[in-house]
Amino acid sequence: MKEIGQEKTLEEFLTGPGTREHSAHGEKHSSLFTWTGHPFTDTGLVALLLLSGKEKPEELTSKDVEKAIEFASRLYARKEWSSGYIHAMMLPNSGILMANPSMSKKRTPEAIKANLLALLSESENPNAPICEICGRRHARPKPVYRSDFPLVGTGGVPNYFPSGKDGANICSHCLFLAQMMPLVAYRLSRVLVIHAYPYELMLEFHREALDDVRKTELASVARNFRRPENFLFEKLIDIGTRLETGKLENASITLYSFVNNNQGQEVDVIYIPNPVLRFVAFAARVDRKGWSNIVKMGWRRRPSGDEVEEFKRRYPNDVYARLLSGKSILPYFIDPHGRQANSSWKLLSFYCSEVLGLDKDALEFVKGVADRIVETVEKLPDNKLSKRVRELERAEKLYQFEGFFIRVERDRQELGIPGALMSFDDFARILTSYGEDLNVSWKTVRNLLLFRIYEKLHDRLMKASEDVEEPEEEFEEGEE
Ligand SMILES: [Zn+2]
Repeated sequence: MKEIGQEKTLEEFLTGPGTREHSAHGEKHSSLFTWTGHPFTDTGLVALLLLSGKEKPEELTSKDVEKAIEFASRLYARKEWSSGYIHAMMLPNSGILMANPSMSKKRTPEAIKANLLALLSESENPNAPICEICGRRHARPKPVYRSDFPLVGTGGVPNYFPSGKDGANICSHCLFLAQMMPLVAYRLSRVLVIHAYPYELMLEFHREALDDVRKTELASVARNFRRPENFLFEKLIDIGTRLETGKLENASITLYSFVNNNQGQEVDVIYIPNPVLRFVAFAARVDRKGWSNIVKMGWRRRPSGDEVEEFKRRYPNDVYARLLSGKSILPYFIDPHGRQANSSWKLLSFYCSEVLGLDKDALEFVKGVADRIVETVEKLPDNKLSKRVRELERAEKLYQFEGFFIRVERDRQELGIPGALMSFDDFARILTSYGEDLNVSWKTVRNLLLFRIYEKLHDRLMKASEDVEEPEEEFEEGEE
């Protein structure tokens, strides 16, 4: 993927030089189409680019566009697309695509093609307002309604439209692009489009949809995924594996999951925070197994080996939900039941520093403390080792957490290990510096310590749990 320049702001479009001149000279536009930042027209542009095997709008020729129109018209004339998809989910009663049920007799690929070509040769009315999407052309004289452009309302029934007025001011070219959208949108229970920046990234996310259309002549059903966010995470893993490091540095992705039909018009907008994108792509490259273990912990019940694929497609996952809402998934990095670390330290470390924003030094400090704990408790007999770790696992209150360190310090003295577990300063730091910070509370530290302990001592801990029948209540409060 190559770097692409910054788009003009709306202000520049409206006031800057060139807008009117461009309009007046028609074909003198630097290119016929351009990225606009609007999810629906950008998705239509993705369809044109993918169909022509090109990457940038300025590379598109009129021949490419005509071929795309032919490809679309042939499909759109079929019932599965027309009444089954376009009318049912995207553009109800569309006249341009002839999805209006009353037009079924007249609907042919040729007629649809003629409508699409007519849009592109439509003359501009210089008195009409500027297009609200591209800012490059004059809008059509009449406002555009939801039968031709999703979610903009219809006469007297405004919906997703900021000024709440009747329809939207959209130019014939933006309208044309929206007609191409069905080719590369994903069909789940609603329609899904994945809007991304840099725009070239959109090609990656929608390529699969067009491949499906070419194979089946039907809209892509996104591998039968039911939930848009689950599908997105799965695609991120695929795409992240191929992307070079750094490609996602400034990337942003937003999912639009919508339905636009006569029964209702709804949209869910799901924004994927950039650190989350980079984290998942990093996981795809360095520790796929670890990521998969973490995700498995996010379902209410752990799926068995052959259930995983079905769970991914059907069920909501806490790990996805927490990542999308900015909540910590640190507890999912460890499996207290199996007493094991779910991923490599490398993935954990990336998550802590890039997503949680934990300082790298702090992380190294906690790792150092954890290693000294391991050095101590590994010298205990199995049953005592298991018991000691359980004290940390069950620490729900700060005093219980403190008690754990005191007991390990005592173990250290009894075992004759030279040097203290921690200096007074270290102790104060671990308990108080992170005290009330929500992201880096003592519970964060506890989870990091457990991660390291499980990583180093998993086998012995499991052996110990098998051997020893342990009583439920382990805290010996009177001991101090
Ligand atoms: Zn426009």
